[in-house]
Amino acid sequence: MLEASRRWRVEGRSIGLVPTMGALHAGHLSLVELARGENDIVVVSIFVNPIQFGPGEDFERYPRDLARDTQMLARAEVDAIYQPSLQVMYPRDSTTRVHVGGVAEPLEGERRPGHFEGVATVVTKLFAAVEPDRAYFGQKDAQQVAVVQRLTRDLDLGVEVRVGPIVREPDGLALSSRNVYLDAGERKAALALSAALREAATAYASGERDPDRLHAVLEARLRAEPLVQVDYAEVVDPATFRKPAGALSELLAVVAARIGKTRLLDNHDLTKPFPG
Ligand code: AMP
Repeated sequence: MLEASRRWRVEGRSIGLVPTMGALHAGHLSLVELARGENDIVVVSIFVNPIQFGPGEDFERYPRDLARDTQMLARAEVDAIYQPSLQVMYPRDSTTRVHVGGVAEPLEGERRPGHFEGVATVVTKLFAAVEPDRAYFGQKDAQQVAVVQRLTRDLDLGVEVRVGPIVREPDGLALSSRNVYLDAGERKAALALSAALREAATAYASGERDPDRLHAVLEARLRAEPLVQVDYAEVVDPATFRKPAGALSELLAVVAARIGKTRLLDNHDLTKPFPG
């Protein structure tokens, strides 16, 4: 089932691609399910993309377990796993990078210089290799979704970008491959992220519309947890990932925080009730 390069295009059959960095969990599998429902062929890519990690980030220690991933994907009945080598993705003489402006600039773009350039480059290459009709991304990485949508439109990549909802643990923690880094105390502290989003959604539901006051609700909940170091906690327009200019039909609360050595992200559209 492991494949080295492109070969899935068959006349009259649609292809759905789920790009991942492996260390798969139920969040990834939910995207596979979505893809299976909408395509004839499902390809899952597994590639820990070095150029989207900054210096000092967790590229080396990022969890890798191809045997387990392969088993999970076999059970999910995917048609192929595309696992390109580093050499195929970034040959020694490759110098091209895909830069997305605008929505790629604030928040993650500011905190992780080069990150979205790495994401946009790898996504462009994966699309070229797999030639999918549709590609599936998780709302968990909300700004990444916006960047990929911008990229796909601006470069006429001809791929329909589909977005799956955030899959959470029963207690609210968003599933992430990085959750395995958390020890028991940190795992408990990590609940502050989803709790903060829940509280902000409750405030919104009670009539609070002022982004600054909604921001204060997020901050207060996160700061109440000593193990959590807030990177950002903002209420943004999901079209720009910047402060909303006026009233909006969607208002995205986005949080990034460090717990020990682990950096976690979460988000929620405050105009909707928080799940669970
Ligand atoms: P990653 O392997 O972390 O690069 O993630 C691969 C894809 O799975 C990305 O589109 C993520 O947004 C998505 N994903 C990660 N965690 C979740 C989650 N908890 N729920 C839904 N999708 C997720």
